Amino acid sequence: MKKAVILGAGGFIGSHMVKRLKKEGFYVIGVDLKNPEFSPTEADKFIIGDLRNPELVSKVIDSDVDELYQFAADMGGAGYIFTGDHDADVMHNSALVNLNVVHECVVKKVKKVFYSSSACMYPEHNQLDPDNPNCTEDSAYPAEPDSEYGWEKLFSERLYLSFNRNYGLDVRVARFHNIFGPEGTWDGGKEKAPAAMCRKVAVANEGESIEVWGPGNQTRSFLYIDECIEAVRRLMNSDFIGPVNIGSEEMISINDFAKMAIEVSGRDLDIYNIDGDSFVKKYGHKCPVGVNGRNSDNSLYFENLGWKVSQPLIDGMKKTYEWINTQVIKNLSSVESEEKYIYERNPDTGEVFRRKFGDYDSPRELVDTQL
Ligand code: NAD
Repeated sequence: MKKAVILGAGGFIGSHMVKRLKKEGFYVIGVDLKNPEFSPTEADKFIIGDLRNPELVSKVIDSDVDELYQFAADMGGAGYIFTGDHDADVMHNSALVNLNVVHECVVKKVKKVFYSSSACMYPEHNQLDPDNPNCTEDSAYPAEPDSEYGWEKLFSERLYLSFNRNYGLDVRVARFHNIFGPEGTWDGGKEKAPAAMCRKVAVANEGESIEVWGPGNQTRSFLYIDECIEAVRRLMNSDFIGPVNIGSEEMISINDFAKMAIEVSGRDLDIYNIDGDSFVKKYGHKCPVGVNGRNSDNSLYFENLGWKVSQPLIDGMKKTYEWINTQVIKNLSSVESEEKYIYERNPDTGEVFRRKFGDYDSPRELVDTQL
């Protein structure tokens, strides 16, 4: 039986990879700071521990590992990565994990190692035009990522590639572009755009407008989790090292994406964009939108692997909305009689309103506290 170690197995992509490798018959060891939040792990062994600690890393990587997947990273959505408040932690924590892991993989002679980089490592100067972003793999240099998260990813992909050249470590490096789907973080500040959109739609009052950050013409593409896992497995089974994009080429503006979330919900809602001074007034910092345009370019993946992702975005959004809507309802029933409110501030007047969480028809009441 083949043995796999999955680092970050309590997170979104890691927990899905555990399920996939179990289906394929692997013996799976998962490691994370926390258990998966939404369903019990299917790993044969799950170790709770901090991969910044080299002793822990040495304990969890045995000398008979066939495949290791490195998904652990200090990360989150735009509100976490682009405000600047977490820059030091993001760089320090993720770099330490990668430095420990790559070293231990050589010591223990791990047969194959997957590293998850990100499209955030691409230079900002190629992503200024929302309609024509360039994210071909060879456009990475001269480097100019727009976040420290992107710089750490660039450093770490080079780290794994240098261990390939100097120590013969068999690595695969992929640059993920916005992966989404059920069982991803959907609230609390670390959620990303698809989950945030679905949640905003699920909790809004009928007839209301949901908030969309930035001008709304910024573009992105989003890849459904099942296709991401398939693409990673195919890369691992190939001889192609990468770095290579794993994403969707179905580019969409953020406003159209928000409208898609509303469409799949079947609810009567509208959108409004918040940016500039109104955003600063409401949240106390600049609107964290990231680059103007980004889309995956899958030519290199196709050239080397002869396979393409194909699922339309709306299909993945239907499944994701359904799952997040269920979470919202569950969350509501778990608080039962305890009153829970959603608070909103009018950016123009500064007035704060609240309404009952999950009760779309409850009236909005004005509260005198400033949040
Ligand atoms: P996630 O945050 O859900 O999972 C990451 C996991 O790593 C978390 O469970 C976290 O607890 C764990 N972790 C962090 N620091 C750790 C430490 N010191 N020790 C042990 N565990 C630690 O993120 P995800 O969406 O599953 O992403 C997986 C990987 O893919 C990450 O490296 C991420 O940067 C990369 N990526 C993801 C996306 C995306 O859209 N989801 C896009 C680009 C790149």
